[in-house]
Amino acid sequence: MPNPLVSDRNVEFLLYELLRAEELTALPYFADHGRETFDLVLASARKLAREQMFPAFKPMDEEPPRLVNGQLRIHPAMHEIWPKMFELGLGNATRPVELGGQQLPRTVAVLAAHYCMAANGAAMGYLGLTQGAAHLLEAFGDEFLRREFMTRMYAGEWAGTMALTEPHAGSSLADVRTRARPAGDEWRIDGNKVFISGGDQDLTSNIVHLTLARIEGAPAGIKGVSLFAIPKKRPDGTDNDCTCAGVFHKMGWRGLPSIALNFGERGECRGWLVGEPNRGISYMFQMMNEARLMVGLNAVSTASAAYFESVEYARTRPQGRPLNARDPNAPQVPIVEHADVRRMLLKQK
Ligand SMILES: Cc1cc2nc3c(=O)[nH]c(=O)nc-3n(C[C@H](O)[C@H](O)[C@H](O)COP(=O)(O)OP(=O)(O)OC[C@H]3O[C@@H](n4cnc5c(N)ncnc54)[C@H](O)[C@@H]3O)c2cc1C
Repeated sequence: MPNPLVSDRNVEFLLYELLRAEELTALPYFADHGRETFDLVLASARKLAREQMFPAFKPMDEEPPRLVNGQLRIHPAMHEIWPKMFELGLGNATRPVELGGQQLPRTVAVLAAHYCMAANGAAMGYLGLTQGAAHLLEAFGDEFLRREFMTRMYAGEWAGTMALTEPHAGSSLADVRTRARPAGDEWRIDGNKVFISGGDQDLTSNIVHLTLARIEGAPAGIKGVSLFAIPKKRPDGTDNDCTCAGVFHKMGWRGLPSIALNFGERGECRGWLVGEPNRGISYMFQMMNEARLMVGLNAVSTASAAYFESVEYARTRPQGRPLNARDPNAPQVPIVEHADVRRMLLKQK
């Protein structure tokens, strides 16, 4: 039997019996929704997860992105999955209608994402990063950033990343050294980032890196860190001097590259300030917290898919005989019939 990834009954129980999601439709923001629209979203996500994302999981993991002439090439399956995710509106389902969203309760969106994450965490990584980066611009960006960058990201035309970590600044972001100097309405950026997930790909026509950097002359420490939107290509389509310097080897989520990213090797990298100078870390915490929730959901989703793999194996693997079977010629039984295997499955569940 194909892996269902997630129990439909559990989702129904959580959503309607435990969390009573239908009551949310009494709130004006969700007034156009009802159980029919919630079920429709879940059914579409479930179908995409089971029929397209899960079959692509193994091939994407076995053939991780490759750096070809300075450009990362990602698995063809991801090129098919990406537009489907946006056709279903997974990119901005919770956002207001005027931003192209569906005003869907997050509770429902999270359970739809649960299916997709159980199917293919790497594929969902591209989506989650893009959503989080666009949401940062929605919350703190000016009119230009919202119009030129955010709308394209919510539509899936462009993707987004979070670019915080530097070789000497991982947990301690107060030590970020990437530098920003004024250049008219824009900023000239130079610096090196590492471990940037989805930091390069050939999936979308542009990638916007939401980047922590230090304006020249800013105070030392975390209170001197600002947030910039740095696109791979400038709004006029010209190259913005963001270079993929290498791809890190990973043990899992191999379909989503984590890369070393250099800004301004030729002195030609431009960034756009998000919000006020020196307030970057407080803005960035919105995306970091969303990423933390996504990582947690991913762990639950992976555990769910793994449980169903175990059940299927236990049902189909014949081994040994019941304790009370004395006949050595009796047929073997599936291991699910052994009490200790059942105990382990129950624990996993
Ligand atoms: C798969 C993957 C994807 C990633 N994607 C991104 C991304 O998209 N964007 C991005 O910006 N970064 C990304 N990162 C980087 C990630 O954010 C950093 O790895 C993380 O911040 C930790 O930094 P570090 O690896 O330099 O470890 P370090 O900061 O060197 O920490 C090493 C160890 O010391 C501990 N430690 C450090 N400081 C303290 C302290 N003050 N008190 C107690 N313990 C401490 C840490 O908990 C850790 O166990 C990614 C990393 C991985 C592995």
